[in-house]
Amino acid sequence: MLSEQVLYIVATPIGHRDDISARAVDVLRNVDRIYAEDTRHSLTLLRHQGIETRIWALHEHNEESQIDVVLEHLRDGHSAALISDAGTPLISDPGYRLVRACQQAGIKVSPVPGACALTAALSVSGLPTDRFQFVGFAPHKRSARIAWLQPLEMLEHTQVLYESPHRIVDCLHDIVEVYGPERELSVGRELTKKFETLLYGSAAQILSIVVADANQQRGEFVIVIAGRPASDKADGESVVELDRTLRVLLEHLPVKSAAKAAADLFSINKRTAYDRALLLQGK
Ligand code: SAM
Repeated sequence: MLSEQVLYIVATPIGHRDDISARAVDVLRNVDRIYAEDTRHSLTLLRHQGIETRIWALHEHNEESQIDVVLEHLRDGHSAALISDAGTPLISDPGYRLVRACQQAGIKVSPVPGACALTAALSVSGLPTDRFQFVGFAPHKRSARIAWLQPLEMLEHTQVLYESPHRIVDCLHDIVEVYGPERELSVGRELTKKFETLLYGSAAQILSIVVADANQQRGEFVIVIAGRPASDKADGESVVELDRTLRVLLEHLPVKSAAKAAADLFSINKRTAYDRALLLQGK
């Protein structure tokens, strides 16, 4: 028996179709409605599990307009489940606005946890997991991606990125440039699927493997990047400190000189400091 007036956030597989919990199947079978990102895609999974619950579309483009419809359905004493195309809804997937609206309306939201590419990749990365940062997808354009990676490069903890086949080579290339060729990476491709591959090594090694083999550029990717090694750090260095120093320098010096001084002070490359200075100036 399911509770009424509850929105269940249900994780579905990221590849292997049996990676779904018995409770998730039970909830999906017994809710009054399932909201799915792509109804056709999800019907395959639901049919495989013998779930006949009616399915409604809720995706990035209609989430805002569907919120009132979902709230009304729940207020009427019904239950609903939200699923995405793969893995855990809301993790680089729609649903945040709906969950928030339910909370604000006093409607219970309950998780039915399960597969997630982020945790799957992290669990086999061999990199420290006591502290990590999930940063979603990198920007598509090279200059924006470099500027986005630069502050991440200074972090001491593990970072996790999602990437698509269209940009995997370019993204790895920029990681080598910003993090340096030696930074340790793990790349999980097609996790839980037939062509699952796990690559471990330095950024330069992984880039050369992926560039050399077109098969390694196919499918879905999670890139896990080791935090900056302690030996690379100047005392007390952090993004916050770099920004604070740059702000002071920029009050007295032109951008180029301020960036050069900051690069010397923090033992980082000049381009990193220069791009950061431009970012702080809103350029
Ligand atoms: N909600 C999903 C989750 O829980 O992981 C993520 C959805 S996001 C739109 C899709 C991205 O997740 C892909 O581009 C890829 O980066 C990553 N991903 C999903 N499934 C994957 C898999 N089986 N192997 C590797 N990466 C995967």
